[in-house]
Amino acid sequence: MLTGVQVLLIGGDARQLEVIRRLAEMDASVTIAGFEGLHTPPEGAVQAELDDALFESVDALLLPAVGTDDQGFIHAVFSDRQLQLTSAHLTRLPKHCKVYTGMAKPYLRDLCAEQGLALVELFDRDDVAIYNSIPTAEGAIMMAIQNTDITIHGSTCIVLGLGRTGFTLARTLQGLGANVLVGVRRSEQFARAAEMGFRPFYMGSFLEHVSNIDLLFNTIPTMIVTAQIIANLPSRAVIIDLASKPGGTDFRFAEKRGIKALLAPGLPGIVAPKTAGRIVADCLYQLILADTVERGNRE
Ligand code: NAP
Repeated sequence: MLTGVQVLLIGGDARQLEVIRRLAEMDASVTIAGFEGLHTPPEGAVQAELDDALFESVDALLLPAVGTDDQGFIHAVFSDRQLQLTSAHLTRLPKHCKVYTGMAKPYLRDLCAEQGLALVELFDRDDVAIYNSIPTAEGAIMMAIQNTDITIHGSTCIVLGLGRTGFTLARTLQGLGANVLVGVRRSEQFARAAEMGFRPFYMGSFLEHVSNIDLLFNTIPTMIVTAQIIANLPSRAVIIDLASKPGGTDFRFAEKRGIKALLAPGLPGIVAPKTAGRIVADCLYQLILADTVERGNRE
């Protein structure tokens, strides 16, 4: 239980409602800012204005998927107000307070480093990334269905990258009856892909595999679907790029060639906010609990 633990949660979307629910259920004292637009305020939490005093006595500061933008503004879909996190806020936090977010931009990293505060980026964690790969794969398949006139079953798909997302996506496509090729760069991934019944190839030979495919899914966060690759795709092919912005596709060239190419960021929060919220909420609960126990042992 999190009895006596003070949590401050600022901004976010429907995923944060799951986090609030879970932490309140575990008896944490949850204060929230950036939710005044909700018709029904989340149960078990106290709504507050974002002012300096709010940051005193906080044990865990929770920020949304992308902590802040480059100027410190926090995305809050349930609020019309501008929520800006500043150095003055973080100065008020007790030194043991940890700052949790999905992924941080340099602004937040610098602010935490300046104040000597621990910053935890949840989307970096293998467990969160693997759980998140489930709604990501489902979202990618939803986009594929919406943007093609064929079934996934019987189609030929390439998945680039056999990491946490690529693995789940390739397996899910295979489960739907697609012929799945996977682009990798390591021999152990090549072997695993072959063992799982995919058709693996090394990225060095990427160009040789693109001339007869229906769907190209990219999870490699670097420019990899170049103009040369796009020039060799059949005109029916659709590119769905899952890699973090700006993706790994030459979108300008794809448009010029008339190939449909879609950058698809943030799929878990779009296609399954409740599940995505639960994934984050479960992880946060475990981490805050572990911190609380450790602090208790030290004191
Ligand atoms: P990951 O586990 O690190 O997987 C990335 C894969 O790309 C690894 O297999 C890596 O191979 C491979 N790779 C990287 N650079 C490469 C290169 N130059 N050539 C060949 N292979 C290369 O990451 P992840 O969690 O799957 O996430 C992948 C991307 O998707 C990230 O950009 C992430 O932010 C994004 N993402 C998007 C969504 C969404 O909703 N669109 C959701 C989750 C994640 P090695 O193992 O050899 O390094």
